Amino acid sequence: MTAEIIDGKAFAAGLRARVGELAAAFTPQAGRAPGLAVVLVGEDPASAVYVRSKGKATREAGMESFEHRLPADTAQDDLIALVDRLNDDAAVDGILVQLPLPKHIDEQAVLTRISPDKDVDGFHPVNAGRLATGLPGFVPCTPLGCLMLLEDRLGDLSGLDAVVVGRSNIVGKPMAALLTKANCTVTIAHSRTRDLPRHLRHADIVVAAVGIPHFVKGEWLKQGAVVIDVGINRTESGLVGDVDFAGAMQVASAVTPVPGGVGPMTIAVLLRNTLVAAHRNAGIPLEKGAI
Ligand code: NAD
Repeated sequence: MTAEIIDGKAFAAGLRARVGELAAAFTPQAGRAPGLAVVLVGEDPASAVYVRSKGKATREAGMESFEHRLPADTAQDDLIALVDRLNDDAAVDGILVQLPLPKHIDEQAVLTRISPDKDVDGFHPVNAGRLATGLPGFVPCTPLGCLMLLEDRLGDLSGLDAVVVGRSNIVGKPMAALLTKANCTVTIAHSRTRDLPRHLRHADIVVAAVGIPHFVKGEWLKQGAVVIDVGINRTESGLVGDVDFAGAMQVASAVTPVPGGVGPMTIAVLLRNTLVAAHRNAGIPLEKGAI
């Protein structure tokens, strides 16, 4: 059996085009374009690449991009003062502070300062609480992108067994919450899980967010499973995921590649979340299911 490759790049391109259409409709109604502010502190090369591509994608979707680049020795109070200004700025619908922040800055103090209504990354505890209790709010971009790929592939996920490998606040936990909301039976595996293959053997859906190259082996998977690989690991042979891709292709029914799977979805969902924030902030209704 050879699995199908889930083309996250193509799906993300479609989502970005749809965001662009809706942003074009929003702008004359609101008298301004949706706006996303991205804050980068320091010179981390990977973060600089992410911030550049987020800015470019934002402009391509017909939205305003406000980019703030601060030196690595920026004081925490100065960063918080910038967040406060962006919270008060009516042209800014979404605020994203690129992680990781330099060590002298308390990330939680900064993330919790962002207004939950502008928290398009969905990292604020208020939005995490809304997700956990089933209230509308912002959901972290990467797991929401994974859910979109799964629903596109499988339709209704009700009753399926899902294993999420990893329990970070950014990926694993919100992914498990989304799958629970979609009526899956969810297992969260993590670094202290005993006998991971035993859990994976029954999983119709596997989401791997571990940060270890090729960690999930093909022989651990159930025949026909759908495998979503969130991992982005830089190795000597280039970018690789958390799943042994060649092995998984022999057993699964569909697998996301790295690169070109989950990665492109993250920015597309960020734009989608910003569009939703803009409608809420401007009091302009967005039809349910429009995006
Ligand atoms: P993290 O380091 O915060 O969390 C890793 C998780 O893996 C932890 O919860 C840990 O318990 C679990 N883990 C570690 N060793 C394990 C083991 N032996 N068995 C089972 N679980 C184990 O990482 P993260 O932020 O969740 O990111 C995970 C991966 O996803 C990384 O490769 C990261 O680069 C990637 N990522 C990609 C995107 C994207 O846009 N595609 C976004 C965020 C993260």
